[in-house]
Amino acid sequence: MSMVYISIVIVVLLLIAVKWYDSQKKKNKVICVIESNCTGCQRCAKRCTRRVLEMVKNETGAIATVKYPDKYTACGDCLSKCKFSALKLIERVWQ
Ligand code: SF4
Repeated sequence: MSMVYISIVIVVLLLIAVKWYDSQKKKNKVICVIESNCTGCQRCAKRCTRRVLEMVKNETGAIATVKYPDKYTACGDCLSKCKFSALKLIERVWQ
């Protein structure tokens, strides 16, 4: 019976470690808009509660742009909302 408890504890610890590793990995990432794929549907900007993304007008209509990259937390909400593969994570360049 104690083997079952030990196994459960190991699995829980592994899950915590994977989640921590994932969050550390995402810390150095920031969202980037691939303008040629963006249709201007606004799904990402509407979803973002931190207002990282904003719509800007261009010659073909409107596209998403990253207005406040410092506020980006890599929560993934915008990535999951974009159906046009117009968002991707890139390495953050610290200045
Ligand atoms: S969800 Fe994708 S296609 Fe729509 S505005 Fe955002 S980046 Fe552009």
